[in-house]
Amino acid sequence: MIILNVIDLVASKSRRRVIRVKAVDFIVVHHSVTPPDYGWEDILRIHLAHKPPYQSIGYHFVIRGTSGQVYKCLPISPAVIGAHAYMQNAVSIGICVTGNYEENEPREVALTALKELLAELHSAYPKAKILGHREMLHSKTACPGKHLQAALVAMRS
Ligand SMILES: [Zn+2]
Repeated sequence: MIILNVIDLVASKSRRRVIRVKAVDFIVVHHSVTPPDYGWEDILRIHLAHKPPYQSIGYHFVIRGTSGQVYKCLPISPAVIGAHAYMQNAVSIGICVTGNYEENEPREVALTALKELLAELHSAYPKAKILGHREMLHSKTACPGKHLQAALVAMRS
């Protein structure tokens, strides 16, 4: 897995944002409900156009669903605050795999990349729980979709 660092590019297109997370208690996996060939630029564009607008991209990492390319979008050491898990952003890191995994099966390349990224984050934050967005307290969502959630459960076991 090669991680492309696009933190500076993301920052140059973002509104101001310097808030640090308090702790990393959770590593949260999402899907984007977009076409699976979307990358970080597409997700950043969507988030900046969101109403109310986000300060920047909401996720720390974006994995392109078609290629498994991993983009590091927000700093994680120390981590800045993202916008991806209601009431839990101050204590979590967000990863988004682009695509809709309620409807479609994730591709093997994307799952391999996710698994490797989770392993890396687990060594950096061994106490953090790895959860699908739907498993988070306060979440009312199917995210990351039943197929990606099932793959995540299999990865954890
Ligand atoms: Zn989500």
